[in-house]
Amino acid sequence: MLLTGKTAIVTGGSRGIGRAVSLLLAREGANVAIVYAGNTAAAEETKQQAEALGAAAAVFQCDVADEQAVADMVKAVKTQFGSVDILVNNAGITRDGLLMRMKEADWQAVLDTNLTGVYHCTKAVSKLMMKQRQGAVINLSSVVGETGNAGQANYAAAKAGIIGFTKAVAKELASRNIRVNAVAPGYVETDMTAGLPDSAKEDMLRSIPLGRPATADDVAQAVLFLASDQAKYITGQVLNVDGGMVM
Ligand code: NDP
Repeated sequence: MLLTGKTAIVTGGSRGIGRAVSLLLAREGANVAIVYAGNTAAAEETKQQAEALGAAAAVFQCDVADEQAVADMVKAVKTQFGSVDILVNNAGITRDGLLMRMKEADWQAVLDTNLTGVYHCTKAVSKLMMKQRQGAVINLSSVVGETGNAGQANYAAAKAGIIGFTKAVAKELASRNIRVNAVAPGYVETDMTAGLPDSAKEDMLRSIPLGRPATADDVAQAVLFLASDQAKYITGQVLNVDGGMVM
């Protein structure tokens, strides 16, 4: 097992990609702190699944956009598990719309959760990781942060921001043996993409050389790699998990 004795915080760990990450890290021996916004039933189900794999797991309802709530959550995880070795910044939302019709509230909500949330969580755990002199942070970006996408100016801005944040913080924390990397998925079948029109899904499928959407587990495998010592000389990178969409 790759993560025996480690503790991981997975934001948005209750559903979709975050659930797959929580379960894969649990399978590899990590204690998992499953952070979620409001869907307690999904979070509890993920916790039970992680425990069935033999892991210690706990759920934390916490809005990553709320700095104090994040500080309290990180403190609670440290109290319960003794350390925080891995942070997966995965919580994310969409509020799609063309720029001309995009309301400021939709711009702000996406930036607050998808980018400011990453800042809050990374800042809070980095204090612990610096004392521990080790840690791994993995941020969920998106191909959309690299290529842009009509109707997603807010989301693309946040996901591009995550790439800049990842590289800046990787440089700041490298001397303390803390690695910071990003994963950029393409099209993953989750609740987030379930509501897209069929035409949009067909367009995306046509742009994927490997000819299928990603599963949440495809993305989780890349997160596990970056979280583990197998990637101990890798920092400041963006790993695309997109079936070849962007190359
Ligand atoms: P889902 O919509 O399936 O799940 C979102 C998760 O984030 C849920 O666990 C949700 O909690 C949590 N969450 C949302 N807002 C907050 C908040 N403010 N504070 C804490 N937790 C929150 O998303 P996906 O699994 O599809 O996406 C996961 C990540 O991957 C996102 O960052 C997304 O942008 C990115 N991504 C997804 C792609 C895709 O095709 N699906 C492609 C590229 C990137 P709750 O259950 O309580 O609502």
